[in-house]
Amino acid sequence: MDKILVIDDSAVQAEFIKNMLQDDYDVTVCQTAEKGLQCARTGVYSLILLDVIMPGMSGFTLLKELQETALTRHFPVILITSLDDTENEERGLILGAVDYITKPFNPVIVKARVNTHIRLFNYQMRYREQAMLDELTGVANRRSYENNSLMKWQEAIRFEVSFSVCMIDVDKFKVYNDTFGHPAGDKVLTAVAKVVSSYLKRATDFFARYGGEEFVAIFLNNSPKGAYEFMKRIRQAVENLHIPHNPSVSEWVTISVGGYTLFPREGDSYEDCLKIADNMLYEAKGTGRNMVVWSNEKKEKWREK
Ligand code: GH3
Ligand code: MG
Ligand code: MG
Repeated sequence: MDKILVIDDSAVQAEFIKNMLQDDYDVTVCQTAEKGLQCARTGVYSLILLDVIMPGMSGFTLLKELQETALTRHFPVILITSLDDTENEERGLILGAVDYITKPFNPVIVKARVNTHIRLFNYQMRYREQAMLDELTGVANRRSYENNSLMKWQEAIRFEVSFSVCMIDVDKFKVYNDTFGHPAGDKVLTAVAKVVSSYLKRATDFFARYGGEEFVAIFLNNSPKGAYEFMKRIRQAVENLHIPHNPSVSEWVTISVGGYTLFPREGDSYEDCLKIADNMLYEAKGTGRNMVVWSNEKKEKWREK
């Protein structure tokens, strides 16, 4: 059931709105803007119905706060008020409200508008999710990677934990396509993505298709050796899928992995870090493939062969 947050200092008014909507929605009521802000920041809502005139913080101020916070910016807000002059309506809409309803209102009309905005919100959410996923494999796509990689990097700096990044590349994949055809190649990419992502399930993990037959994984709070051992298991899991390759290349489809672990500090460059992971991948490719090569800040190295 979609959740609606009603913020109105009048208990009578709030109760009236709640009764009007509660058959179809899960309605939470807050009677001050301050409480409303707290609710909005800690909950997930499909719509906020906001009274403009309240003692203390006004609805306009609250709306501005909501719009300025990444966590609450996407919640649609309908302003409900007795202010019926166009100046205030204009102000509310410019501040980012999706709609503006003046009191006294017709419950049927309000309900219809609520339904419409919730439907639009849900479409938007679904579209946003899809825009972040790779169509072929269903894992995060390059765009999502661009958004998330720096967030993870900042997270590691803030919490003073280690940051690990690795590049994963399917071995001799051109030969695979040439031998079995592009559609078969697509199935391999999907299968590889599925098995790798099944290992990266922590809230702090991130895994994306970087492009073509390359993937990137990020995880926090592992030692370099721990990260290396973890990726070894994943590399083995891909080999264990036992997808036949062209025998002139290898028995099964395999991946090579190059990774790097560090404790990032303010001022360090994520791009430099990724470059080292890429160099490790290059080394894995140059010295036999189907292996993990890992490095750390002290230039220590772990490799399978
Ligand atoms: P290496 O072991 O050195 O990585 O060799 P490779 O053949 O995997 O590397 P190369 O970069 O030469 O070729 C990558 C191949 O991946 C070529 C390209 O056609 C294929 N590829 C990239 N994206 C897709 C895709 O979406 N589907 C399929 N089927 N193939 C893809
Ligand atoms: Mg490759
Ligand atoms: Mg490649």
